[in-house]
Amino acid sequence: MIEKRMILFLLFMSFFSTLLFSQQIQFGETDSYNDLTEGPYIFWEEGKAIVKYIWNGNYISEEVAVQEHGDFTVSLGGFDSEFEISSFPPTIDPTIYTNVPKIFVVSDIHGQYNRFVEILRGNGILDRNMEWNWGNGHLVIIGDVFDRGPQVTECLWLIHRLEREAEQWKGKVHFLLGNHEIMVLQGDVRYVHDKYIKVAEIMGMDVKSLYSDTSELGRWLRSKNTIEVINNILFVHAGIHPNFTEMNHSIEEINNRIRVNIDSPREKIKYNDLLNFIFGSIGPFWYRGYFMDTKDEKQIEQQVLFETLIYMNVTEVVVGHTTQDFINPFFQNKVIPVDTGIKYGNKGEALLWKDGIFYRAKVDGYIEQLTFPVKKIQKQIKENQ
Ligand code: ZN
Repeated sequence: MIEKRMILFLLFMSFFSTLLFSQQIQFGETDSYNDLTEGPYIFWEEGKAIVKYIWNGNYISEEVAVQEHGDFTVSLGGFDSEFEISSFPPTIDPTIYTNVPKIFVVSDIHGQYNRFVEILRGNGILDRNMEWNWGNGHLVIIGDVFDRGPQVTECLWLIHRLEREAEQWKGKVHFLLGNHEIMVLQGDVRYVHDKYIKVAEIMGMDVKSLYSDTSELGRWLRSKNTIEVINNILFVHAGIHPNFTEMNHSIEEINNRIRVNIDSPREKIKYNDLLNFIFGSIGPFWYRGYFMDTKDEKQIEQQVLFETLIYMNVTEVVVGHTTQDFINPFFQNKVIPVDTGIKYGNKGEALLWKDGIFYRAKVDGYIEQLTFPVKKIQKQIKENQ
């Protein structure tokens, strides 16, 4: 029997108590991070958790004893809200789902926490108290929560918390990896917001180490899939290049290959054909061929795309990565792009699927029908003959 132990972190600290076990950070005059509040970053060690965060410019590191596989409550006064995490390592999600009643899809959040929350609340996925309100529905985030914006941590912990809450309602949160998750986990910080460079510096580590495989966020991200199929609809960050079909690997195998190779050295990836394809410019993290010619090759032809979908036994493919002005399906509604510029902070919409129909979902909850059920179209064709 798993023994549970609840530990409460009270982060409302007085100036005096803060002084007892924290280190006041001195920033330069031009620095805008003097009253920075950021975190938490939780690192697992044998029998304990090291909780690191910055509170009003004070760096705090606490060691907390944790019973094996015990739950542990993080109460974040100034952050999002109180939430529970488990010291038990995350389980790996299935790749294929059927009979899902409704799906809400958001992509390329890029640290724009406020816009992300606005979209979720505006569409009733979250209630006024920021709690799961989508019942047994599924929320799919198709990658690129990381980079560019200044509130990546807030986004990650919100998704982390919703994952647990959704399960209580028989709902589900799917967080698929994008190229920016891979980049940060592999230590490529070219697109990381300055704030996180500073945060890592304050904590005496590099950005990559904030998400190491012994950190809660790092091991959680490393448990995620890259490609999933829900109700025969394929979800992937960038897209599926036709060469994928020649690889002769199931989607599940590809997800596993990615998981075990996130931390592999570049040399290993470079000299392995499959890994080179997966992590490369035409792989599921980077491919742009649904929407444009690239320097390497032309935009995909419709017939080739259809053959790829048939091979993968899916009816549509839903992607992010390549930013559009608004959600407007390509290739007879077979390719549905969702990245509509949340990264700009004041733009972006989401995709809703319900009863076989896709809708654009705007930030205020206004929805616009994009597709019609296949049966209805067949009926219309018959009537017109
Ligand atoms: Zn991307």
